[in-house]
Amino acid sequence: MKNYLSKKAREIIPYTAGEQPADRKYVKLNTNENPYPPSPNALRAYREYDFSALKLYPPLRMDGLRKAIAAAEGVREENVFCGNGSDEILAFCFPAFFDPDGKGVAFADITYSFYPVFCDFFNIPTHIVPLEEDFTLDLSKLAAAEAQGVVLANPNAPTGMGIPLSEMEAFVAKNDRIVIVDEAYMPFFGESAVPLTEKYGNLLVVKTFSKGYSLAGIRCGYAIGDKALISGLERCRDSFNSYPVDGVCQAVCAAAISDAAYYAEKNALVISERERLERELPLRGFTVLPSRANFVFAKHAVKDGKEIYLALRERGVLVRHFEKPRISDFNRITVGSASENDALLAALDDLLKN
Ligand code: PMP
Repeated sequence: MKNYLSKKAREIIPYTAGEQPADRKYVKLNTNENPYPPSPNALRAYREYDFSALKLYPPLRMDGLRKAIAAAEGVREENVFCGNGSDEILAFCFPAFFDPDGKGVAFADITYSFYPVFCDFFNIPTHIVPLEEDFTLDLSKLAAAEAQGVVLANPNAPTGMGIPLSEMEAFVAKNDRIVIVDEAYMPFFGESAVPLTEKYGNLLVVKTFSKGYSLAGIRCGYAIGDKALISGLERCRDSFNSYPVDGVCQAVCAAAISDAAYYAEKNALVISERERLERELPLRGFTVLPSRANFVFAKHAVKDGKEIYLALRERGVLVRHFEKPRISDFNRITVGSASENDALLAALDDLLKN
């Protein structure tokens, strides 16, 4: 049969999201969701939403949501951009800040694996900067790349390692190029670069409701930066889809971000469970990278990474394994609730017996 697809659609290798299996009930520690429910106010906003409003398009400028985000982040509404998950915002960033015939974008060899897919999709050249042996990112190497700009995840994924705010500021200050900082996991670190956005016109910070706000299912993210950067994102969005964030989502996320105390308490629990895994896994022969995120990246002294992934899966515990150079010995394990982490440790004890 004749092939009606474009060359791009035929050839691109899409991003592979972590599996969301339906075959049985798993202890699901593979996609870095928050183990706790959304805040009571967020759930109330959902229940009390005026569903008759669904016949209309949602608020075009998302004023209510942007106002709530601006208040929570201590910035002005004009500095806030919202999208259908931070993945969508990252997707807009590539055409907004990088030219196909330009100098390209620099990022680490081991980082969020969606970045190279976006580059491929938008035909943007890449500069891949290897992480050091210990998986730290040497920012001076990123700075040395002859690129139009950089994108980095802080904390990084899948390593979980974080860059302190002071180092980030020094990097942004001496790099007069666009710097996109993907802070999907920042609620578990607490060194956000958002306060720097007022001072540095080259800094864009991208955040999400998926992890720190327990709302992965609703698909909402936001970016904060200088008005000129936000306007570039808006121009790309409005050339693609004028209404990416639906009305229910706007109401629920505005309520969630106004519930700082609830989420501070829940995210502190995630951090203390992360610390427990960082103590417990080494007792079972694992090396664990120092994590600032809601997951740990762990490698066993003897057992192969894939073998552990499969043996956990058989025991009903799902973690994420990447069949990629440098990291195939590791598994990325989302920090679950205390009982989910108990189940993980019990499954590991069982499989390590053999
Ligand atoms: N950035 C990083 C580093 C991530 O791991 C993820 C989650 N896969 C995202 C962004 C996207 O998150 P979302 O689209 O749910 O906001």
